Amino acid sequence: MLKGIAASQGIAVAKVYKLQQPVLEIERKAANPEEELAKLDAAFTKTVEDIEKIKEVASKSLAPEELAVFDAHLMMANDPELRGQIEESIKNEGINAEYATDQVASMMVSIFESMEDAYMRERAADIKDVTFRLKCNLCGKVIPNLSTIDEPVVIVAKDLTPSDTGSLNKEFAKGFATEIGGRTSHSAIMARSLEIPAVVGVTGILDAANEGDEVILDAINGEVILNPTAEQVAEYLKKGEEYQAEKEALKALKEQPSVSTDGHKVLLVGNIGSPKDAEGVIENGGEGVGLFRTEFLYMKSEDWPDEDTQYQAYKAVLEAMDGKPVVIRTLDIGGDKKLKYYEFEEEMNPFLGVRAVRFCLLRKDIFRTQLRALLRASAFGKLCIMFPMIATVGEFKEAKKCYEDARAELIAEGVKVGDDVEVGCMIEIPAAAVLADQIAKYADFFSIGTNDLIQYSMAADRMSQNVSYLYQPLNPSILRLIKMTIDGAHKNGKWCGMCGEMAGDEIAAPVLLGLGLDEFSMSATSILRARKMINGLSYEEMKVMAEKAVECDTMEEVQALVEASI
Ligand code: PEP
Ligand code: MG
Repeated sequence: MLKGIAASQGIAVAKVYKLQQPVLEIERKAANPEEELAKLDAAFTKTVEDIEKIKEVASKSLAPEELAVFDAHLMMANDPELRGQIEESIKNEGINAEYATDQVASMMVSIFESMEDAYMRERAADIKDVTFRLKCNLCGKVIPNLSTIDEPVVIVAKDLTPSDTGSLNKEFAKGFATEIGGRTSHSAIMARSLEIPAVVGVTGILDAANEGDEVILDAINGEVILNPTAEQVAEYLKKGEEYQAEKEALKALKEQPSVSTDGHKVLLVGNIGSPKDAEGVIENGGEGVGLFRTEFLYMKSEDWPDEDTQYQAYKAVLEAMDGKPVVIRTLDIGGDKKLKYYEFEEEMNPFLGVRAVRFCLLRKDIFRTQLRALLRASAFGKLCIMFPMIATVGEFKEAKKCYEDARAELIAEGVKVGDDVEVGCMIEIPAAAVLADQIAKYADFFSIGTNDLIQYSMAADRMSQNVSYLYQPLNPSILRLIKMTIDGAHKNGKWCGMCGEMAGDEIAAPVLLGLGLDEFSMSATSILRARKMINGLSYEEMKVMAEKAVECDTMEEVQALVEASI
């Protein structure tokens, strides 16, 4: 049995299909430039044709957004810059086309791989994909075409390129396991869109698996079992069927409200990092967006994103959510999140330094641009704005004043803004949780950021593996801070949500329900499972249980209490 990362859930039992890419032996040779340029021209033409064919096959199983990757590949294959550089090198150095291509490709890949932005680094995979095809066409080698597979298989490969995943036929490709890759690698994202089980980062799988071996792919636990026993096969086939049945049953909850057995209603909403993630929230039955982390917009940019760019992004989310509430968090930068176009001052403890709203209050010009963009977008749906890392009443009031100034400015300019915008406060610093009843006089709502609230309460860096045992959402101390926050909001007639990871935790949900949390914001794929749970719980019973939980000594006691009451 080999371990990896479950990148797309499901279970598959089939035969191994080993995807072996052709091995190219490219050597530098002196050659006639004219002949090499002609060869290059033919290879580029064939590469474009190949990608067009793959796109055509992929269009039968992928959504238009996923097909965009092939448009990007076509753009690269038609890019005069890439071609020009290879041609130059053939002409200037008098070398063979495949060597020139190899050199230019490696240089471009290393430029992209060294970029700080994760999105740009991932683009290196696209350049590799396109230029590898080009080199194969130059060398007369054929890249295996996965669309020709005609029996049920689990594909085993070093990695799958976008062209490979685009050529997969779901009828026969029952899943895949790759040596490399993480949850956000290309192949992982594609597997989730195609709903094919996938385990990535399985070190040693290529050596261990032989073509035609029987294999169990457990993409729920991230395990690959080679040559299983008959009992194991029977066990996993049953598990696979149960998983499918559960998935179907969960789908039936998509349009249902999230309501306890005794009629207490809550909202189950999604966390997103970019406008296109809104679709996943809808698909998974989300009743809104509870956290749009806008920093990714800033991190992807080459410079501070301007008002119009931001306005388009916020408007896109509000429109996609079609009147459902959308909570957008203002810029949370600093700490571990850096920008390539801005040098933060060095600090001993960046997580305790100028981050989030602290930065925005120092750079009100940047804050103003974002607030104006948000307010302009507010005309297109139900917008809730919140400020991250508020520690004091004074900070909240100052941030709210910036919001009000931007609003007055836009109205004076005759720009339409929404009239039901809510302005809320993230509670992720213990001081703010303790003083929540006072902050709630000024804020329209709260959203508890438990990822930070726990790190600051426990004085345990959330990035440090060594102290990760102190990440204890169910510790009674954390539950008390949460209770203070919720009670503080309710005392002032305000609502309270949670957007930290804890909101999607199945053991925490019953306690949070009992403490009176109104909104739970989590990754889209957790929503339906959470709804199933909430819809099966009694609010009155959970209230009694939560009262006991805050009186416990340890998180283990709380855990046992929850397990006994669900
Ligand atoms: C949190 O701190 O819980 C939170 C949601 O914000 P982030 O994880 O982006 O810091
Ligand atoms: Mg936070």
